[in-house]
Formats: sequence, C-alpha cells, structure tokens
Amino acid sequence: MADELNPFHIVQGQLRLAVDNLDLGDSVYNLLKDPMRVIEVAVPVRMDDGRLETYIGYRAQHTDATGPTKGGIRFHPSVSIDEVKGLSMWMTFKTAVMGLPYGGAKGGVICDPQQMSERELEELSRGYIRRLAPMMGPEVDIPAPDVNTSPQIMGWMLDEFDRVRGQHLPGFITGKPLVLGGSEGRTSATGRGVVFTILDAARRIGLDVRGATAAIQGFGNVGSYTAHYLHQAGVRVVAVEDVRGGAYNPAGLDVPKLLKHVARTRTVHGFADSAEINTQDLFGLDVDILVPAALENQIDEANARLVKAKIIAEAANGPTTPEGDHLLASRGVFIIPDILCNAGGVTVSYFEWVQNTMGYYWPPQEVDRKLKAMMTKAFDTVYKMKQAHQVSMREAAYLVAVHRVAEAAEARGWVHRKRAPEIPSDQLQAMATPVPEVAAVPPTSIGH
Ligand code: GLU
Repeated sequence: MADELNPFHIVQGQLRLAVDNLDLGDSVYNLLKDPMRVIEVAVPVRMDDGRLETYIGYRAQHTDATGPTKGGIRFHPSVSIDEVKGLSMWMTFKTAVMGLPYGGAKGGVICDPQQMSERELEELSRGYIRRLAPMMGPEVDIPAPDVNTSPQIMGWMLDEFDRVRGQHLPGFITGKPLVLGGSEGRTSATGRGVVFTILDAARRIGLDVRGATAAIQGFGNVGSYTAHYLHQAGVRVVAVEDVRGGAYNPAGLDVPKLLKHVARTRTVHGFADSAEINTQDLFGLDVDILVPAALENQIDEANARLVKAKIIAEAANGPTTPEGDHLLASRGVFIIPDILCNAGGVTVSYFEWVQNTMGYYWPPQEVDRKLKAMMTKAFDTVYKMKQAHQVSMREAAYLVAVHRVAEAAEARGWVHRKRAPEIPSDQLQAMATPVPEVAAVPPTSIGH
C-alpha cells in the first residue's frame, strides 16, 4: 500500500497536527500514535466442500483512556493490519468527538463474504470470537457491525461469547438483532446521523436542502439509509453507485422504488428510469451534496479536482486522502469529517449498551430524539472550534477529540501535559536543585 494511502499513517498525521495545534507535546503524541494492543488470529473454517480453510483476522484496541474500546468488525478481501490499526484510532477520535465513554477499536477478517455460504460465515464469525474472547467483554472491548457484517453476524458472535463465558452478556456486542437485546434505530443510525450532520452543515452555509441535489457512492447499510433520509428531507438524490454498478437520473431517483430494487437484487445496478454511471463521473456531478459511503481513499487529488459539490459528507471512514482533502479545503468545500459525520452508528451502539446494562429498552422515538440531540451538540462544538481557531471542520474535530483523550490520559497519570514554568537561565544556574523535567511517565507505570 502506498504510504500516503495507509490509514494508519494518515491518522498518525492527523493526530500529530492536533497535538501540535493544542501544544500538548510529544508525550501525548507518543502515547496515542500506536494502538495499545493488536491481536492477529488464524481462524480455521470447515468449508461446505469439506476443505479446511484458515482465515486471518485482526483486532486493534487503540486506547482505553476514556473507557472500554469500541468499534466494528469488517469482512473484506482488502483488510490489512495497518487498515485495522488506522480504523481503531479513528474510532477513538470518533467516540471522543461525541463524548462517549469509550476508546477506539476495530476488527477485520481477510475474506470475501460474497463467495461464502451462510454456514461458512457463521463458522468464521464464531471462530473469530473464540480466538478473541479472552481480550473482549462489555467492560473491555465491545464490537459492532462494519463493512459486510450484519445484525445476524452480531447474533452469532454474541452467542459464541455467551457460550465461552457461560453467561448472558448482551452488552458484549452492539448492532445485534432486537430480540437479543439490540436497540431500536441501530441499523439506520449511521445514515440517520449522516443526514443530521448534512442538515446542520446546510444551515451553516445557507443551503436550502429542499430541492438540493445529492450523489452517493456506496449503497450498503450506510449509503442506503442516507439516501432514504435525504429523500425524506426533500433532497433530490440524482446518483448512487455500488460495487456492481451505478444509477443516475438528473431529475432525481425514485428512492423508495430504488430501495425496493436493492432489497430484491442486492445492487443499484439495472434500476429502471436511470442511466449507468461510474465513480469518476459520480464524483464530478454538479450536485450540492456528495456522500462517499464506501471505503477509504476514494477521493484523491485527481478526483477532488472534479468535485463541484458544496458539501462532502464523509459517511465512510477515511474516504478522502490527505492530498484530496487539502485540495478541497483550498477550494472552500465544506467537508463534514468522518469522525463526526458517521458517528451516529457508534452513538446508537452506545445507547444499545446502556440499555443492555439497565435491562430496560427505549422506544424508537426516544432513540431518535437522543441521537439528534447528541449529533447536533457535537456538530456545534466542532463548528465553534473551527470558528475559534480558523481551521477546517476536520482539524476542529481532531482538536475537540484529541483534547478530550489527552485530558483523560492526564487524569489517569499516563502523561503530564503541563510544562514547568519558564525560568530564565541565569536564575536557573543560581538555583541549588535542577528544575524537574516534566515528561511522560516511564512506560512501566502506564497502566494499560
Ligand atoms: N462500524 C461503525 C463505525 O465505524 C460502528 C462502530 C460501533 O458501533 O461500535 O463507526
């Protein structure tokens, strides 16, 4: 993987910038630049034809300064250790921007779920959790869905964890089916949150969303719910795309019909009343709102030059390369950064975990009201930071997040951010005892 496309190095760069802007010093950077724990597992699966296949998986737990680590598990052929490490760090900053009592984690298995039967997927899901169970739990590390993992997969994983522990621990995993203690509104939460942030951004730049246009790249869970809620808000969704093809209609796609088509065929490809469109052309459309809702590094410098949208809503994690980001920012595009834009998912995961802890469940309206309140508050906090420091929304989000994590790390005694007062050198020489150096506590006393 080219270095500038490596999510782990990209997030380290974002952390460095925030640490420097906040004047936190090297101790904070050094503490947070690597996940505290990265686990690799080999999971044997008996395939339907009798062969035994071994799948490699990872779990990265970035920091537990602010609480148990939290984040999804993805099943995808392109999963790599650095991708998982980078994504775990983005989860830390995402939960911190939202003020959730979690640190970040992410898991992944290198596999192509499209080529696997349901039984093979179940065996893989259970085997992955068996390997990781000693390092997980409702107060330790809490997984959730991500790319290509569903509530059903969460159900199998929960069952496996319960069997290993010999207990019922619904708070071990979020995004599970309602009947196992899932939350109302969890499946739609990421898309719902994306649209809350788009409405907030539109208000800030004076864009009337009724009649505004949007294009969405990626039509999995997040892309499809984003389309649904944009349509409900009066936005004309003119183009969508997934791995198998695209659908474009300048007059606006019939979103309810499109969702039915996708439920039937599992792709947007071949949708009636629409023309085929590819990624490059979709990014270059003359629309108000562009939503990358697929994987990392989709908007690079070359694509960014084509973008005409006023708002980019990063529904995916890391969809914009640093070069692409730089170019778009210099052209005044309002980018809602991933760690804010797609935080609705983990926020309702938090609600799910809270409900599991209480054993008392909320109606859908309550979940929705609480999600809206938290998303709006986080957006306002980031926007105020942006105004105060004259930086992009992304930098502002990192300032909010890194500040919070650093405060927690300091309160735990892992780092000492505050510098010794400046003392003129002539006075220093006159002093009998040297000024103690204030730096990171030696690693042996970092209790994590
Ligand atoms: N996978 C989602 C994300 O990237 C949700 C994580 C969670 O709910 O823990 O934010």
